Amino acid sequence: MADCLLHPEHGYYRSQEAIGIGGDFITSPEISQMFGELLGLWAADCWQKMGGPSRVYLVELGPGRGTLMRDALRAARALPPFRAALTPVLIEASQRMRDAQRKTLGDDVGAIWHEDIAAIPKDAPLILLANEFLDALPVRQFQRGDDGAWHERCVGLAEDGVHLQFQLAPRPLPLDPVLPPALRDAPPGSIIESSPAVRATAADIAVRLRLQGGAALFVDYGYTQPGIGETLQAVYRHAYTDPLAEPGLADLTAHVDFASFAKAAAEAGAITFGPVTQGEFLKALGIEMRAARLKQSGSKTQGLEIDAALHRLTAPEEMGTLFKVMALMPPESPAPAGFA
Ligand code: SAH
Repeated sequence: MADCLLHPEHGYYRSQEAIGIGGDFITSPEISQMFGELLGLWAADCWQKMGGPSRVYLVELGPGRGTLMRDALRAARALPPFRAALTPVLIEASQRMRDAQRKTLGDDVGAIWHEDIAAIPKDAPLILLANEFLDALPVRQFQRGDDGAWHERCVGLAEDGVHLQFQLAPRPLPLDPVLPPALRDAPPGSIIESSPAVRATAADIAVRLRLQGGAALFVDYGYTQPGIGETLQAVYRHAYTDPLAEPGLADLTAHVDFASFAKAAAEAGAITFGPVTQGEFLKALGIEMRAARLKQSGSKTQGLEIDAALHRLTAPEEMGTLFKVMALMPPESPAPAGFA
Protein backbone atom coordinates (compact mmCIF):
# COMPACT_ATOMS: atom_id res chain seq x y z
CA MET A 1 0.00 0.00 0.00
CA ALA A 2 2.85 2.35 0.89
CA ASP A 3 4.66 1.57 -2.36
CA CYS A 4 1.51 1.94 -4.45
CA LEU A 5 0.96 5.41 -3.01
CA LEU A 6 4.47 6.78 -2.58
CA HIS A 7 6.97 4.87 -4.75
CA PRO A 8 9.34 7.57 -6.09
CA GLU A 9 8.55 6.78 -9.72
CA HIS A 10 5.36 4.75 -9.90
CA GLY A 11 3.57 5.82 -6.69
CA TYR A 12 0.06 7.19 -7.05
CA TYR A 13 0.70 10.51 -5.29
CA ARG A 14 3.90 11.04 -7.30
CA SER A 15 2.49 10.28 -10.73
CA GLN A 16 -1.26 10.96 -10.78
CA GLU A 17 -3.50 14.01 -10.54
CA ALA A 18 -5.12 12.71 -7.37
CA ILE A 19 -7.28 15.42 -5.88
CA GLY A 20 -9.88 17.71 -7.44
CA ILE A 21 -12.40 17.74 -10.28
CA GLY A 22 -9.85 16.42 -12.78
CA GLY A 23 -8.43 13.92 -10.28
CA ASP A 24 -9.84 10.86 -8.57
CA PHE A 25 -11.48 12.33 -5.49
CA ILE A 26 -12.53 15.61 -3.88
CA THR A 27 -11.76 16.44 -0.27
CA SER A 28 -13.43 18.85 2.18
CA PRO A 29 -11.02 21.78 1.61
CA GLU A 30 -11.60 21.41 -2.14
CA ILE A 31 -15.38 21.51 -1.63
CA SER A 32 -15.39 24.85 0.15
CA GLN A 33 -13.06 27.52 1.51
CA MET A 34 -15.16 27.40 4.70
CA PHE A 35 -13.44 24.18 5.77
CA GLY A 36 -9.89 25.53 5.82
CA GLU A 37 -10.99 28.87 7.23
CA LEU A 38 -12.71 27.24 10.21
CA LEU A 39 -9.69 25.03 10.87
CA GLY A 40 -7.50 28.14 10.73
CA LEU A 41 -9.75 29.82 13.32
CA TRP A 42 -9.60 26.65 15.42
CA ALA A 43 -5.81 26.93 15.35
CA ALA A 44 -5.97 30.64 16.27
CA ASP A 45 -8.22 29.81 19.22
CA CYS A 46 -5.76 27.12 20.39
CA TRP A 47 -2.92 29.62 20.15
CA GLN A 48 -4.83 32.08 22.32
CA LYS A 49 -5.64 29.37 24.89
CA MET A 50 -1.90 28.54 24.97
CA GLY A 51 -1.27 32.12 26.05
CA GLY A 52 -0.25 33.42 22.63
CA PRO A 53 3.35 32.13 22.37
CA SER A 54 5.63 34.36 20.29
CA ARG A 55 6.51 31.48 17.94
CA VAL A 56 4.46 28.49 16.85
CA TYR A 57 4.56 25.99 13.97
CA LEU A 58 1.30 25.56 12.05
CA VAL A 59 1.90 22.04 10.76
CA GLU A 60 -0.18 20.22 8.18
CA LEU A 61 0.22 16.51 7.44
CA GLY A 62 -0.45 15.48 3.82
CA PRO A 63 -1.57 18.90 2.56
CA GLY A 64 -2.70 17.71 -0.90
CA ARG A 65 -3.02 20.75 -3.16
CA GLY A 66 -2.36 23.17 -0.28
CA THR A 67 -5.92 24.50 -0.27
CA LEU A 68 -6.59 23.93 3.43
CA MET A 69 -3.36 25.70 4.42
CA ARG A 70 -4.09 28.61 2.08
CA ASP A 71 -7.59 29.10 3.54
CA ALA A 72 -6.37 28.61 7.13
CA LEU A 73 -3.66 31.25 6.65
CA ARG A 74 -6.20 33.67 5.21
CA ALA A 75 -8.41 33.15 8.28
CA ALA A 76 -5.39 33.52 10.58
CA ARG A 77 -4.92 37.06 9.30
CA ALA A 78 -8.02 37.95 11.36
CA LEU A 79 -5.71 37.60 14.39
CA PRO A 80 -2.55 39.44 13.26
CA PRO A 81 -0.36 38.47 16.28
CA PHE A 82 -1.11 34.79 15.56
CA ARG A 83 -0.27 35.19 11.87
CA ALA A 84 2.96 36.94 12.85
CA ALA A 85 3.91 34.19 15.33
CA LEU A 86 3.32 31.22 13.05
CA THR A 87 5.51 29.42 10.55
CA PRO A 88 3.62 27.05 8.20
CA VAL A 89 5.20 23.58 8.04
CA LEU A 90 3.98 21.20 5.34
CA ILE A 91 4.74 17.51 5.78
CA GLU A 92 4.46 15.97 2.33
CA ALA A 93 6.11 12.84 0.94
CA SER A 94 5.32 13.49 -2.73
CA GLN A 95 7.40 15.92 -4.81
CA ARG A 96 4.51 16.43 -7.19
CA MET A 97 2.24 17.41 -4.31
CA ARG A 98 4.89 19.70 -2.84
CA ASP A 99 5.06 21.53 -6.17
CA ALA A 100 1.28 21.92 -6.19
CA GLN A 101 1.31 23.24 -2.62
CA ARG A 102 4.02 25.78 -3.40
CA LYS A 103 1.98 27.03 -6.34
CA THR A 104 -1.19 27.38 -4.24
CA LEU A 105 0.53 29.13 -1.35
CA GLY A 106 2.91 31.40 -3.23
CA ASP A 107 6.39 32.30 -2.04
CA ASP A 108 5.58 34.95 0.53
CA VAL A 109 3.85 32.92 3.27
CA GLY A 110 7.16 31.76 4.78
CA ALA A 111 6.31 28.05 4.59
CA ILE A 112 8.79 25.22 5.02
CA TRP A 113 8.47 21.63 3.73
CA HIS A 114 9.59 18.29 5.12
CA GLU A 115 9.01 14.72 4.04
CA ASP A 116 8.06 13.19 7.34
CA ILE A 117 6.87 13.88 10.85
CA ALA A 118 10.27 13.23 12.41
CA ALA A 119 11.57 16.40 10.70
CA ILE A 120 9.05 18.79 12.32
CA PRO A 121 11.19 21.42 14.11
CA LYS A 122 11.40 21.02 17.86
CA ASP A 123 12.08 24.55 19.10
CA ALA A 124 8.53 25.89 19.45
CA PRO A 125 4.99 24.58 20.09
CA LEU A 126 3.06 23.09 17.19
CA ILE A 127 -0.56 23.36 16.13
CA LEU A 128 -1.17 20.54 13.71
CA LEU A 129 -3.93 19.92 11.17
CA ALA A 130 -4.47 16.74 9.13
CA ASN A 131 -7.37 16.06 6.79
CA GLU A 132 -7.53 12.68 5.06
CA PHE A 133 -3.94 11.89 5.98
CA LEU A 134 -4.39 8.86 8.25
CA ASP A 135 -6.54 7.04 5.68
CA ALA A 136 -3.60 7.02 3.26
CA LEU A 137 -1.34 5.15 5.70
CA PRO A 138 -0.92 1.42 5.09
CA VAL A 139 -2.99 -1.19 6.93
CA ARG A 140 -2.33 -4.84 7.61
CA GLN A 141 -5.12 -7.37 7.30
CA PHE A 142 -5.67 -10.66 9.12
CA GLN A 143 -8.13 -13.35 8.16
CA ARG A 144 -9.45 -16.28 10.14
CA GLY A 145 -8.67 -19.40 8.18
CA ASP A 146 -10.64 -22.65 7.94
CA ASP A 147 -8.26 -23.96 10.62
CA GLY A 148 -9.77 -21.43 13.05
CA ALA A 149 -6.47 -19.55 13.40
CA TRP A 150 -5.75 -16.00 12.21
CA HIS A 151 -3.33 -15.54 9.31
CA GLU A 152 -1.93 -12.38 7.80
CA ARG A 153 -3.67 -11.62 4.49
CA CYS A 154 -0.83 -10.83 2.09
CA VAL A 155 -0.53 -9.74 -1.54
CA GLY A 156 1.03 -12.28 -3.90
CA LEU A 157 1.17 -13.17 -7.56
CA ALA A 158 -1.70 -15.09 -9.14
CA GLU A 159 -0.97 -18.33 -10.98
CA ASP A 160 -0.75 -16.49 -14.31
CA GLY A 161 2.34 -14.78 -12.89
CA VAL A 162 0.95 -11.37 -13.88
CA HIS A 163 -2.01 -10.40 -11.73
CA LEU A 164 -1.95 -9.76 -8.00
CA GLN A 165 -4.12 -11.64 -5.55
CA PHE A 166 -4.71 -11.86 -1.82
CA GLN A 167 -3.40 -14.98 -0.14
CA LEU A 168 -3.05 -16.04 3.47
CA ALA A 169 0.36 -16.46 5.03
CA PRO A 170 0.75 -20.17 5.78
CA ARG A 171 1.90 -19.64 9.35
CA PRO A 172 -0.87 -18.64 11.79
CA LEU A 173 -0.44 -15.66 14.08
CA PRO A 174 -0.91 -15.75 17.84
CA LEU A 175 -3.57 -13.03 17.65
CA ASP A 176 -6.34 -14.62 19.69
CA PRO A 177 -5.21 -13.53 23.15
CA VAL A 178 -5.18 -9.85 22.12
CA LEU A 179 -8.49 -9.91 20.26
CA PRO A 180 -11.46 -8.15 21.85
CA PRO A 181 -14.11 -10.71 22.93
CA ALA A 182 -16.45 -9.82 20.05
CA LEU A 183 -13.79 -10.90 17.58
CA ARG A 184 -12.90 -14.18 19.29
CA ASP A 185 -16.05 -15.80 17.91
CA ALA A 186 -15.53 -14.46 14.38
CA PRO A 187 -16.42 -17.13 11.79
CA PRO A 188 -13.76 -18.44 9.34
CA GLY A 189 -13.23 -15.98 6.51
CA SER A 190 -13.57 -12.92 8.80
CA ILE A 191 -11.09 -10.13 8.12
CA ILE A 192 -9.75 -7.57 10.58
CA GLU A 193 -7.47 -4.61 9.93
CA SER A 194 -4.72 -3.03 11.94
CA SER A 195 -2.56 -0.03 11.11
CA PRO A 196 0.82 0.18 12.84
CA ALA A 197 1.49 3.36 10.81
CA VAL A 198 -1.63 5.10 12.15
CA ARG A 199 -0.68 4.16 15.71
CA ALA A 200 2.91 5.32 15.19
CA THR A 201 1.63 8.68 13.93
CA ALA A 202 -0.54 9.06 17.04
CA ALA A 203 2.41 8.25 19.29
CA ASP A 204 4.86 10.54 17.44
CA ILE A 205 2.50 13.51 17.62
CA ALA A 206 1.59 12.80 21.25
CA VAL A 207 5.27 12.86 22.24
CA ARG A 208 5.80 16.16 20.39
CA LEU A 209 2.78 17.73 22.11
CA ARG A 210 4.04 16.60 25.49
CA LEU A 211 7.55 17.99 24.85
CA GLN A 212 6.75 21.11 22.80
CA GLY A 213 3.16 21.98 23.72
CA GLY A 214 0.41 22.73 21.24
CA ALA A 215 -2.61 20.96 19.77
CA ALA A 216 -3.41 18.54 16.95
CA LEU A 217 -6.58 17.99 14.94
CA PHE A 218 -7.23 14.93 12.78
CA VAL A 219 -10.18 14.73 10.39
CA ASP A 220 -10.80 11.49 8.57
CA TYR A 221 -13.34 8.83 7.72
CA GLY A 222 -13.39 5.96 10.06
CA TYR A 223 -15.06 4.01 12.80
CA THR A 224 -15.11 4.36 16.58
CA GLN A 225 -15.47 0.69 17.61
CA PRO A 226 -13.13 -2.02 16.32
CA GLY A 227 -15.02 -4.52 14.21
CA ILE A 228 -14.85 -7.28 11.66
CA GLY A 229 -14.57 -6.38 8.01
CA GLU A 230 -12.15 -4.87 5.56
CA THR A 231 -12.23 -1.23 4.55
CA LEU A 232 -9.29 -1.13 2.13
CA GLN A 233 -10.60 0.58 -0.98
CA ALA A 234 -9.35 1.87 -4.31
CA VAL A 235 -10.73 4.85 -6.22
CA TYR A 236 -9.89 5.59 -9.82
CA ARG A 237 -11.50 8.50 -11.68
CA HIS A 238 -14.23 9.03 -9.05
CA ALA A 239 -15.25 5.31 -9.06
CA TYR A 240 -14.40 2.36 -6.84
CA THR A 241 -12.14 -0.28 -8.32
CA ASP A 242 -10.38 -3.49 -7.26
CA PRO A 243 -7.48 -2.44 -4.94
CA LEU A 244 -5.12 -4.90 -6.66
CA ALA A 245 -6.09 -4.09 -10.25
CA GLU A 246 -4.17 -0.84 -10.91
CA PRO A 247 -1.23 -0.56 -8.51
CA GLY A 248 0.04 3.03 -8.59
CA LEU A 249 -2.83 4.30 -10.73
CA ALA A 250 -5.66 4.19 -8.20
CA ASP A 251 -5.90 5.88 -4.81
CA LEU A 252 -5.77 3.40 -1.93
CA THR A 253 -7.23 4.17 1.48
CA ALA A 254 -8.59 2.40 4.53
CA HIS A 255 -10.99 3.67 7.17
CA VAL A 256 -9.32 4.90 10.34
CA ASP A 257 -9.74 2.93 13.56
CA PHE A 258 -10.15 5.91 15.90
CA ALA A 259 -10.22 3.77 19.04
CA SER A 260 -6.73 2.40 18.47
CA PHE A 261 -5.51 5.82 17.26
CA ALA A 262 -6.70 7.36 20.56
CA LYS A 263 -5.23 4.51 22.61
CA ALA A 264 -1.80 4.91 21.01
CA ALA A 265 -1.89 8.68 21.60
CA ALA A 266 -2.90 8.25 25.24
CA GLU A 267 -0.19 5.66 25.86
CA ALA A 268 2.35 8.16 24.52
CA GLY A 269 1.15 10.81 26.94
CA ALA A 270 -1.42 12.96 25.10
CA ILE A 271 -5.02 13.49 26.10
CA THR A 272 -7.64 12.97 23.41
CA PHE A 273 -10.94 14.66 22.60
CA GLY A 274 -13.62 13.11 20.39
CA PRO A 275 -14.07 11.69 17.94
CA VAL A 276 -17.06 13.89 17.14
CA THR A 277 -18.67 13.83 13.72
CA GLN A 278 -17.50 16.34 11.13
CA GLY A 279 -21.06 17.72 10.96
CA GLU A 280 -21.18 18.41 14.71
CA PHE A 281 -17.67 19.82 14.73
CA LEU A 282 -18.12 22.26 11.85
CA LYS A 283 -21.47 23.44 13.25
CA ALA A 284 -19.90 24.00 16.68
CA LEU A 285 -17.25 26.14 14.97
CA GLY A 286 -19.97 28.21 13.30
CA ILE A 287 -20.03 26.97 9.70
CA GLU A 288 -23.69 27.97 9.33
CA MET A 289 -22.93 31.57 10.28
CA ARG A 290 -19.91 31.62 7.99
CA ALA A 291 -22.07 30.33 5.12
CA ALA A 292 -24.72 32.98 5.77
CA ARG A 293 -22.02 35.67 5.79
CA LEU A 294 -20.51 34.48 2.52
CA LYS A 295 -23.95 34.35 0.89
CA GLN A 296 -24.61 38.01 1.77
CA SER A 297 -21.65 39.14 -0.27
CA GLY A 298 -22.07 36.78 -3.25
CA SER A 299 -24.36 36.34 -6.25
CA LYS A 300 -27.44 34.09 -6.26
CA THR A 301 -25.51 31.30 -8.01
CA GLN A 302 -22.73 31.56 -5.46
CA GLY A 303 -25.37 31.36 -2.72
CA LEU A 304 -26.64 28.07 -4.11
CA GLU A 305 -23.07 26.75 -4.31
CA ILE A 306 -22.45 27.71 -0.68
CA ASP A 307 -25.65 25.93 0.41
CA ALA A 308 -24.61 22.83 -1.53
CA ALA A 309 -21.13 22.86 0.01
CA LEU A 310 -22.54 23.32 3.51
CA HIS A 311 -24.84 20.34 2.94
CA ARG A 312 -22.05 18.18 1.56
CA LEU A 313 -19.71 18.90 4.45
CA THR A 314 -22.22 18.52 7.28
CA ALA A 315 -25.26 16.41 6.29
CA PRO A 316 -25.32 12.91 7.84
CA GLU A 317 -25.93 11.27 4.45
CA GLU A 318 -22.98 13.15 2.93
CA MET A 319 -19.66 13.70 4.78
CA GLY A 320 -21.20 14.83 8.08
CA THR A 321 -21.23 11.51 9.91
CA LEU A 322 -18.73 9.17 8.26
CA PHE A 323 -16.02 11.80 8.70
CA LYS A 324 -14.90 12.26 12.28
CA VAL A 325 -12.72 14.74 14.13
CA MET A 326 -10.34 14.01 16.96
CA ALA A 327 -7.99 16.30 18.89
CA LEU A 328 -4.77 15.35 20.67
CA MET A 329 -3.54 17.72 23.36
CA PRO A 330 -0.80 17.89 25.97
CA PRO A 331 -1.84 16.68 29.45
CA GLU A 332 -4.12 19.00 31.41
CA SER A 333 -5.10 21.15 28.41
CA PRO A 334 -8.62 22.58 28.33
CA ALA A 335 -10.98 21.18 25.67
CA PRO A 336 -10.26 22.79 22.30
CA ALA A 337 -13.06 24.49 20.33
CA GLY A 338 -15.63 22.08 18.92
CA PHE A 339 -15.26 19.47 21.69
CA ALA A 340 -17.43 21.01 24.43
N1 SAH B 1 -5.19 16.88 3.07
C1 SAH B 1 -5.42 17.00 1.65
C2 SAH B 1 -4.95 15.78 0.84
C3 SAH B 1 -5.37 14.41 1.27
S1 SAH B 1 -4.66 13.15 0.24
C4 SAH B 1 -6.87 17.33 1.37
O1 SAH B 1 -7.67 17.25 2.29
O2 SAH B 1 -7.21 17.66 0.24
C5 SAH B 1 -3.27 12.58 1.17
C6 SAH B 1 -2.07 13.50 1.17
O3 SAH B 1 -1.08 12.93 2.02
C7 SAH B 1 -1.38 13.69 -0.17
O4 SAH B 1 -0.87 14.99 -0.23
C8 SAH B 1 -0.26 12.66 -0.10
O5 SAH B 1 0.80 12.93 -0.99
C9 SAH B 1 0.16 12.76 1.34
N2 SAH B 1 0.78 11.57 1.93
C10 SAH B 1 0.33 10.30 1.86
N3 SAH B 1 1.09 9.46 2.62
C11 SAH B 1 2.05 10.26 3.19
C12 SAH B 1 3.15 10.00 4.09
N4 SAH B 1 3.38 8.78 4.53
N5 SAH B 1 3.90 11.05 4.48
C13 SAH B 1 3.63 12.31 4.04
N6 SAH B 1 2.63 12.61 3.20
C14 SAH B 1 1.85 11.60 2.76
